[in-house]
Amino acid sequence: MKKAPIIVSACLLGKRCRYNGEDRAHAGVIRFLRRKKYLAVCPEKLAGWGVPRPPVEFHGGGAREVASGGATIKDSRGRNRTAGLMKGVARALRRALKLDPSEAILKEKSPSCGVKRVYRDGKLKRGQGLFAYSLRRNGVKVRSEESFAGRSGKP
Ligand code: SF4
Repeated sequence: MKKAPIIVSACLLGKRCRYNGEDRAHAGVIRFLRRKKYLAVCPEKLAGWGVPRPPVEFHGGGAREVASGGATIKDSRGRNRTAGLMKGVARALRRALKLDPSEAILKEKSPSCGVKRVYRDGKLKRGQGLFAYSLRRNGVKVRSEESFAGRSGKP
């Protein structure tokens, strides 16, 4: 039987898709994925957002509240970016679920990909990004790069 592929945040593999134009290439994740099938995705690129771009964070609630309309995603200029990110996450989710993935490895602390911690109302708090939340809602196991030995090349 063929092994199901793994979904991974594109920036962890060295794609320079972060808001500031950097990547977060992670040696442990790259090593783990060697000779495995995977799909690299960036929900924020799939939202049509450019690089660089103003960073975004949660306001008034976490991923569940955003998904149900009770909270928002705003950028550092105060603009509401909820609809755009929801669109990017929906696109990423469709691509991911088509493959019936075995798990996802996502970048911690991102408003899209964060697994246990995200920025909310100006502070780092317990919570998950919108993409991580959506994958879990669809039964996909999610963990972050922090489960792997080795670090990203940058602080
Ligand atoms: S953390 Fe996720 S949304 Fe942010 S740059 Fe990486 S892949 Fe894209």
